[in-house]
Amino acid sequence: MRVLFFAPHPDDVEFICACTEIDLIKKGHDVMMACFTGGEYGISRDDFKGERLSRIRRRELKESTRLVGVKKLYWMGFIDGYSRFDKESIKMVEEFILKVKPDVIFAPDPFYSVDRHVDHINLAKNVYYVWCRLKKQPIYLLYYTYMPNYYVPARHGKIAREALKKHVSQGFSRPFSVGFSWFVKFLFGCFAPHAVFAEAFRVLGVQRFLKHKNPVRMPKLVKKLFHLLFNGFAVMPDEMQYHPTPEQLGLKEFRYDLDGNLLST
Ligand SMILES: [Zn+2]
Repeated sequence: MRVLFFAPHPDDVEFICACTEIDLIKKGHDVMMACFTGGEYGISRDDFKGERLSRIRRRELKESTRLVGVKKLYWMGFIDGYSRFDKESIKMVEEFILKVKPDVIFAPDPFYSVDRHVDHINLAKNVYYVWCRLKKQPIYLLYYTYMPNYYVPARHGKIAREALKKHVSQGFSRPFSVGFSWFVKFLFGCFAPHAVFAEAFRVLGVQRFLKHKNPVRMPKLVKKLFHLLFNGFAVMPDEMQYHPTPEQLGLKEFRYDLDGNLLST
């Protein structure tokens, strides 16, 4: 099967569903990844923001996907924090999906997202909008969700941790940060049958084949905990994170092609 993971930022798939990704690769499926933004603002230091950080983060994802055996890595070219959900972005995502022809799509949950980052929501909405209109709909798994109806036990932990650790610029070389990713797997594992650590998804398109048809409604306290973990102290306030502006940094949307090669302007 052709499996396509959409990532809002370079580290998201490794953080939240690397074990599933590796599982699919080990089972012989063709796994591809498309990163929506170049991660230009993923650090508090202003002097690193922009193309300099993006170059580092693009390299980190390249190394990480190479480590786990992702067949092809694509770059959609939006700027971190300045992604959009509009006609142009929908058209881009639609053309991309029609070109890649995936049988399975992974993307963030647009409605019940544990992480309300603007790029996560925009990517999620774009993919959802396109998927709803597709004649031949791929199986669609939503991650970063607190309404899961499908769990994958977290296997291949060693290589999953190695893949996450490649994102050094995001602090994932530190044990505490890797531990955070596994704490999230533990929280999902509390609701998963037969697994202590698990990755959780909301599956659309093939619900009739699922054993647990209805999503597990997580207790309010767990939702609050997720909210705090992802939106409370884990993310900087936007006004701190997203300045200077892309214009001030000389950043342009779509300055590189789908393969990540910089285009001359
Ligand atoms: Zn992200």
